[in-house]
Amino acid sequence: MERVDKMLGRGVIDDGLYDELEEALLQADTNINTAHAIIEDLRKAIRTEKIVDVSEIKSRLKDEIKYRFEGLSGSGLSFSPEAPSVFLFVGVNGVGKTTTIGKLAHRLNKTGRRCLLAAGDTFRAAAIEQLGFWAAKSGSEFVGAQPDSDPASVLFDAIQAAKGRGCDVVLADTAGRQHNKANLMAELTKVSKVTNRVLGRNPDEVILVLDANTGQNAVRQAEEFTAATGVTGLALTKVDGTARGGALIGIQEKLKLPVKLVGYGEGLGDLKPFDAGEFANNLFN
Ligand code: GDP
Ligand code: GDP
Ligand code: MG
Repeated sequence: MERVDKMLGRGVIDDGLYDELEEALLQADTNINTAHAIIEDLRKAIRTEKIVDVSEIKSRLKDEIKYRFEGLSGSGLSFSPEAPSVFLFVGVNGVGKTTTIGKLAHRLNKTGRRCLLAAGDTFRAAAIEQLGFWAAKSGSEFVGAQPDSDPASVLFDAIQAAKGRGCDVVLADTAGRQHNKANLMAELTKVSKVTNRVLGRNPDEVILVLDANTGQNAVRQAEEFTAATGVTGLALTKVDGTARGGALIGIQEKLKLPVKLVGYGEGLGDLKPFDAGEFANNLFN
């Protein structure tokens, strides 16, 4: 919160200060209504608690942001008692689905859950290869596909393979592209249905991957994907860049979706559970 530190350096709590704090939230891609609501709540808290010490504003502001994630945060991936669990990764092209799958597989494998990666993005041969590469790197099983084959049948094969090979979790990649949105959503619905047909339940997680750099556009993506695919949680990627991901506050407030994973680099180990306090801290740096 370096920027905030600078503002607070002036030593007075006045309207100008609140305006500047609101501006800082907007700069971090928080949507305008959310930013306004946070600052209003902060103002109230400062008033009712009779806070006069400027330095306390910072921790109060952090609390206001943290509070908005309460009950929704935590890694909390939901595994089925009956293996294999199926986690589906959805999101638009380039957000980091494939990379996130590779990193998560690494983490899960380390804790003794055997992962199988399913190449459900069959649109490009390179996408299939990329996932295969992550499978090798993370020490996971892999079910590939022919380019242009049906992603739903890839998932079907993957679940069967997971059973046969004694894997605990299937991490399924999907394509982020289609010639139109309706087609993409129909394809994802179909993929999701396979789990029901084979295992008698929905995918245990449908993780919507969002790029921290996309700002308010991420809100629209979240609305579209949640409407179509029964998203159970979010992964926020590329927080290692200049982006702050403030859009996330608005998304979880509107859609009540927990943030389950945070990606902060391209390496195998660059994935962690979401921490609301840390998120609030980084928002203004
Ligand atoms: P997909 O199209 O959604 O599968 O996206 P990819 O997994 O192929 O990622 C797209 C690009 O973003 C690749 O160059 C990745 O290396 C990069 N990427 C993914 N996650 C992160 C991250 O957390 N940090 C950084 N810096 N780059 C990332
Ligand atoms: P680009 O110009 O390379 O981005 O390709 P387009 O997105 O215009 O797509 C070209 C063709 O590929 C279209 O006719 C689409 O039907 C098809 N296509 C695009 N994305 C996907 C996808 O995710 N899955 C499948 N199966 N087909 C796709
Ligand atoms: Mg991909």
